[in-house]
Amino acid sequence: MSNNEIFLCSICNVSSGDCPEDCKYCTQSAHYGTQIQRYKYKKIDKILQEARTLREYGALGFCLVTAGRGLDSDKCEYIAEAASAIKKADLGLHIIACCGSSDLDSLKYLKKHGVDSYNHNLETSKEYFPKICSTHTWIERFETCENTLKAELGLCSGGIFGIGESWNDRIELLKHLQILSPHSSPINFYIANEALPLPMQTLSQDEALECVILAREYLPNARLMIAGGREAVFGDNQKPLFEAGINAVVLGDYLTTDGKAPRDDVAMIESYGYIPAQSCH
Ligand code: SF4
Repeated sequence: MSNNEIFLCSICNVSSGDCPEDCKYCTQSAHYGTQIQRYKYKKIDKILQEARTLREYGALGFCLVTAGRGLDSDKCEYIAEAASAIKKADLGLHIIACCGSSDLDSLKYLKKHGVDSYNHNLETSKEYFPKICSTHTWIERFETCENTLKAELGLCSGGIFGIGESWNDRIELLKHLQILSPHSSPINFYIANEALPLPMQTLSQDEALECVILAREYLPNARLMIAGGREAVFGDNQKPLFEAGINAVVLGDYLTTDGKAPRDDVAMIESYGYIPAQSCH
């Protein structure tokens, strides 16, 4: 990718809500009664239709996301089926799966069926994680990232900022990401939600930009992707994010919040003097 290219990724929430885990920042947790759409296993035809549309808007990445702690055999089979169908359609998409904790064999199975990368975020530091989640451990997250690398899938791993963590937690998160060396690292900013147990606070633009600059310093070669919270923190003034080192965006909608229309995102990026990347490499 050249310096003025921005990689466009996209998310397809293929199984949404009712997650038994209690991550305090997550609207998909069943613990907090958030007002979101809940459904299990979107039809493969519908997934294919979304993949086609997002590809037409310039997305190169397409991420199949399921809520829940991890990849059981049913879910693994379903994601493999969806990935095979997308590959068969030959859209030229890099397929990412994001299905929580996973063992090595399941990840190898996904790779065999067309998945190119696996997304699993460390989210925050090992020390702070127990304060935002009591139902699984940070180590389990780290081990899934290691399994991803062992399965020879591309690793996409990042975190969420603005959940009450300190600067030291941010640095510890980035140091561990540096060890894993993900090819892609999503940066999320917490979106305040009254139903969630975290304070109703959103990072300031200055603090969010400091997080991006720090992430770029620790991950100089990663595709640094701005994901959730882009609009909530920066509104229509997103140029500073790209100047701070962001070179990938999630196009369109997020998991449970609406983004801009994909065409508006592309127009905005072009108005800043950048162009959508034409290939994954
Ligand atoms: S495991 Fe994933 S889907 Fe479930 S509450 Fe945590 S972040 Fe949300």
